[in-house]
Amino acid sequence: MNLLDQYEQVVGHQEIGRLRRLGEHFAGKRIVHVNSTKTGGGVAEILGWMVPLMRELGIEASWEVISGPAEFYKVTKSFHNGLQGFPVDLHDRDLTLHYEVNRENAARLDLHADIVFIHDPQPIYLPEFTPEGQVGRWVWRCHIDASKPNRMVWKHLEKAIGRYQAAVFSMAAFTRPISCPMFLVPPSIDPLSDKNCPIPEAERLEMLGRLGLDGQRPLLLQVSRFDRFKDPLGVIEAYRLLKPYYPDLQLALAGGPAADDPEGAAVLEEVMNRAADDKEIKVLMLPPDSHRTINALQRSAIVVLQKSLKEGFGLTVTEALWKGKPVVGGACGGITLQVHDYHTGFLVYSPPGAAYRIHYLLRYAEKRQRMGKTGHEFVREHFLLTRQLRDYLTMLLCLERPEDETFVV
Ligand code: UDP
Repeated sequence: MNLLDQYEQVVGHQEIGRLRRLGEHFAGKRIVHVNSTKTGGGVAEILGWMVPLMRELGIEASWEVISGPAEFYKVTKSFHNGLQGFPVDLHDRDLTLHYEVNRENAARLDLHADIVFIHDPQPIYLPEFTPEGQVGRWVWRCHIDASKPNRMVWKHLEKAIGRYQAAVFSMAAFTRPISCPMFLVPPSIDPLSDKNCPIPEAERLEMLGRLGLDGQRPLLLQVSRFDRFKDPLGVIEAYRLLKPYYPDLQLALAGGPAADDPEGAAVLEEVMNRAADDKEIKVLMLPPDSHRTINALQRSAIVVLQKSLKEGFGLTVTEALWKGKPVVGGACGGITLQVHDYHTGFLVYSPPGAAYRIHYLLRYAEKRQRMGKTGHEFVREHFLLTRQLRDYLTMLLCLERPEDETFVV
């Protein structure tokens, strides 16, 4: 069975029909995505699924990754933090390094394309250094909340945006006034991927055992890069508040390294120290390709946490909802699009708040299961890959077609 037929079984005939019709307009066109890491984090995750689906529609899609010295990733991590409004320590030499790495990558990467999607700030200056005429249209795909950025960071990035024909944000609250047309496209997960497909019960239990977890006892889970914005210490605090009342409770904090995140090691160390005195807390450092392991963990959890203090979209939330798990999530960013109190989980503002909501979910099994079902259907309708690709292609069509032409999908 080809890919589109497999998706049809999950999302239905109509959705795939729309996608095929849109795809016809882009058959043979070359679309290149550029980001800054092949593994780790939501962007890499989506591109790994999106590119094959585009190809299935006859689009010549490919994925390029920019690279630079370790110092470059420190600088772009500051951009990431600064875009989210946090103070940063940046100097002119850092901005020069950003330009220069973009210049080198523009010469090295294969950017001959009808459309190039630039993901996030790291490769944002590529249009500046790519020869005129090599690329038809540039689209900046910003996955980060850029609504209240640090001034210096925004001034630097804004200069690059003039070269783009469109910018795409995950939600309205993340946008700010810019010089090109703006589109809203929330991210998505792939229901067919190893991360999200159904897995046999025996495999699930076997993986749990291998990780030192007990399949018979309730498990709280957070899957995240070890990043302060994901608040792993807050998760431990919430678990500790519950533990006296639920002595059986286990907690797993599963994370992995992202090649473009230099702060991960320090945060991991803090987490290990905080968890050191409790053997029921498992801090799992997983290799980048642990998709089935994460799938098994999410399916085994009784409640999934995503206690972020700042969040782009929170694919881990989507993944958990798809597996029928209610999510207790920090009330920020894209988590607020996905978690709706008493329907798909609870939004929380503090570790005691998280503990209080988890307590409710542990106590009322029937409500937990009902929320799980609602969450699964909610994701089917709004946050699967086919919907995201339909949004992208519709946007590209809008950019291409004269205003007076209509196209019904
Ligand atoms: N992820 C993973 N291994 C890990 C941690 C995270 O595969 O050790 C995946 C996770 O399942 C999700 C993505 O990375 O698909 C994280 O995306 P999200 O939007 O939640 O956060 P980001 O890392 O982009 O801030």
